[in-house]
Amino acid sequence: MHWVATVGEILAEVMRTGLNVALSEPGLFAGPYPSGAPAIFADALGKLGVPSAIIGCVGDDDFGKCNIDRLSADGVDISQIRILEDKITGIAFVTYYDDGSRRFLYHIKDSAAGRIKVEDLDKEFLKTVKVLHVNGSSLAINENVRKACYEAAGLVKENGGIVSFDPNLRPEILPLEEIQNYCRPILKKCDYVLPSGGEAQLITGEGAPEDAVKSLLATGIKAVVVKKGEEGSVMYTPSATHVGKSFQVKAVDPTGAGDCFSAGFVYGLLQGWPRERILTFANAMGALATTKPGPMEGSRTLSQINEFMEISNN
Ligand code: ATP
Repeated sequence: MHWVATVGEILAEVMRTGLNVALSEPGLFAGPYPSGAPAIFADALGKLGVPSAIIGCVGDDDFGKCNIDRLSADGVDISQIRILEDKITGIAFVTYYDDGSRRFLYHIKDSAAGRIKVEDLDKEFLKTVKVLHVNGSSLAINENVRKACYEAAGLVKENGGIVSFDPNLRPEILPLEEIQNYCRPILKKCDYVLPSGGEAQLITGEGAPEDAVKSLLATGIKAVVVKKGEEGSVMYTPSATHVGKSFQVKAVDPTGAGDCFSAGFVYGLLQGWPRERILTFANAMGALATTKPGPMEGSRTLSQINEFMEISNN
């Protein structure tokens, strides 16, 4: 049984070492770091000891190797990753500004990450998946990746599984006018939506956050979990609103916080915990993710997370 799987981009991230240096300017970079929202999510669950897998493609190159090595070292099942000889692994270049914002430049659509296809999905494998997590950034890659995400979500639902969706909107790769069209098929199939910032409004077309949440819940979604950076998160269900404990950390790199939060959320769901406890655990994972530079570098083991929560409570 694979408790959790995800489908989408596996990337190498190369980041500026200094602040406020545009990607168009000469300067130093650090990396490659294993990355890609679905890969960060799967890796965080692997580190928690949850049987998890990622469906994706990398090139037969060093950037693919850095991902495969990390994912397998952290306990992720890599059997659903195809290694392609005719494409290189996707790359994300990122630079940070002192106002906390980031700019990304992606080589993704024509990379190995863009070669996930419905025909290559392993249906027998998908029947074993209890929770499938999908990212909006994967839907943005191209038509065949989008179709593969929709198909995988459909198969998991048909077999009694759960689908969670992080809109993870990346304007660099997702045309704003297409957001609702791309998200609609997955919203019809998903049980949990985990938006941040104004994503709930963007995927629904509603102007006010509360209307966006209402409109998502009206479609039968079980819960909308809004990520709020250092303020933690809020879960809305048709009958109640839930808040967990949030955590104060010295954040150095926000990349991966949302994916680690999602991993913590899914972990809590699988444990059958009360909603507040799920949110507190997910908040802890998101907060810890920001404390180290690099997308996957801030994820922690279960005992490290528990220790962090214990210390923060005192
Ligand atoms: P990403 O950068 O991965 O796209 P996101 O925008 O999806 O992230 P955020 O709201 O930035 O999501 O972070 C996810 C969760 O991580 C938050 O809901 C919160 O629980 C935790 N978190 C993020 N940043 C901080 C912070 N600076 N301090 C404490 N907790 C944080």
